[in-house]
This record gives sequence, structure tokens and C-alpha cells, in this order.
Amino acid sequence: MKTLKIAIQKSGRLNEKSVELLKNCGLNFENYKSSLISPVSNFPLEILFLRDDDIPEYVQDGIAHLGIVGENVIQETEVEVAYLQKLGFGKCSLKLAIPNNSDITDLSGLNGKAIATTYPVILNKYLQNQGIQADIRTISGSVEISPGLGLSDAICDLVSTGGTLKSNGLKPFGDVMSSEAVLIGRKGEEDTDLIQELIQRIQSVLRAKETKYVMLNAPKDNLETVIGLLPGIKSPTIVPLADEKWVAIHTVIPERDFWDRISQLKQAGAQGIVVMPIEKIIL
Ligand code: ATP
Ligand code: MG
Repeated sequence: MKTLKIAIQKSGRLNEKSVELLKNCGLNFENYKSSLISPVSNFPLEILFLRDDDIPEYVQDGIAHLGIVGENVIQETEVEVAYLQKLGFGKCSLKLAIPNNSDITDLSGLNGKAIATTYPVILNKYLQNQGIQADIRTISGSVEISPGLGLSDAICDLVSTGGTLKSNGLKPFGDVMSSEAVLIGRKGEEDTDLIQELIQRIQSVLRAKETKYVMLNAPKDNLETVIGLLPGIKSPTIVPLADEKWVAIHTVIPERDFWDRISQLKQAGAQGIVVMPIEKIIL
């Protein structure tokens, strides 16, 4: 394999984050809206810009070696691809929803009802698992207006904040699947050197995103408590200060328990806490 090809969404909800991720991996390429293929100048890679629906098949058929696409699209197209890495963006759930004034109260109430969706394959599997027989109406968009038009009794659609449901007089009724953007590859090809190199770059960017670099001053007489609150990659760096009663500590902490840690550190006597974003973490 001389040049890798990666397929990403041309425009839409995943485009910007996919481009940002690849640029953060140090890849140089032009992001012209008009071009379908963009060569990367400093890595043997070409970027293909496609409709998201086409990405899983392109990867399965080997036209692209890699792809970035929502899990929902992969499940819906029923292709055989390898899941290489969850990417942490494009998070949403495929939900059932019913009108606020619906008399349906539980899942079995969907028996014999019409459900509009753009995800008939996933919905069909879900309903079969639940033992529900409903009439799935496949439509290509604007699913949320179909109950109001009298086209369906319920819908099954992607939701992130729930705002669209609300503004159409609908309420969520059940989760069918949750989804985020993932890096996919062709089955059996994921071990090649170039693909592994790219996966490692992506992972180092994701790791850095989840982590902050923290510098703080701590009183020596409470050093153990402060260090106990700081995990670090190996262990925190401790630097002496001119004032012998104090030291400076440098370390990294996970974003998710950031605020908890900071208030615990302050209670333990830490001062002058400086928090910085990290670009990459290579283990
Ligand atoms: P394309 O023109 O490429 O076919 P699209 O209109 O099918 O685009 P988008 O609306 O851009 O798709 O959504 C792309 C993906 O973003 C979805 O498949 C899903 O994985 C993810 N996503 C995240 N949040 C939402 C949301 N609230 N609604 C729809 N998709 C979402
Ligand atoms: Mg699409």
C-alpha cells in the first residue's frame, strides 16, 4: 500500500470535526469545498470527501482504506468493516418519539402503529428484538414533521439535544441506539504500518483532548496530600522554589474530573494553579 485513502463527510455535521482531527494529527491538506479528493502533502494519504451514507461501502469495497462516519450509518448500511477507534464527536442517539398528546404509553402500544424513520434497518431489528409489529414508513428527511401531517403515529430519528423534537410537539419515548463518529477500516487490513501510524496519531490527539496540563505551587508540609490528588502519566514533576517551604508541581489530569480535582487541590493548600490545553500525548 503506497498511498492511504481516508473517506470523510463532504459537508454536514461530521465534516468540520473530521477535518480538525486530521489537521491536529499534523496532516497538511487543502480543504476546498469544491474538491472531492485532497492529497496530504506530508503523509502518504489522500482525503476523499463523500456523502456520509456512501462511506461504509467505500471502505468495505476497498475504494477507501479508512473512513470517518457515525455508527448509526454503519449499522444502517449493514456493511462489514472494522471499528478502529471511537472519536468522541458526533454524539447522538436514535430515539423513538411520539406526539405530546399521544395515547401510546408503553412500547407495546406501538403494535400496529406507523413509525416514520430514515433508519428502517436499525428500527426493524430493534422492533423485532422487542417483539413489536409496527408499520415502518421510510422517508428521506424531515421525519419530525410526519406525525403532525398525519403520516405516522411515532417517529424514530437522531436526537442530540432534543430541541427539534420539542419544537415539533414530540417527546422522546425510547432509545434505539446511541452513536458517535468512529474511524473504520477494511476488515483484515487494519494492521498495515501506515494505518497503525495514523491510528497512533489520532489516539495521541484524542488523549490530549481528554487531558489538561496543570502547574501549581504547593506547601512542602502538605506535599503528600497534594500529590495524592494528582495522577500524572508516571508521577508528577516537582520543582524547588526559591521559598524553601514551597514547591512547584507539574502534571496532567483528566478533563472529566477537572473541577473536582481543582477544588480538592485548593483545599489541600495549592496556590497559583495554571491549567493549559495539551496538543498531543505520545505514550
Ligand atoms: P450527507 O449529506 O453526508 O448524507 P446527512 O444529512 O446524512 O449528510 P448529517 O445531518 O450531516 O447527515 O449528520 C451526519 C451524522 O452526524 C449523523 O449520521 C450522526 O451520526 C451525527 N449526528 C450527531 N448529532 C446529530 C443530530 N442531532 N441529528 C442528526 N445527526 C447527528
Ligand atoms: Mg447522509
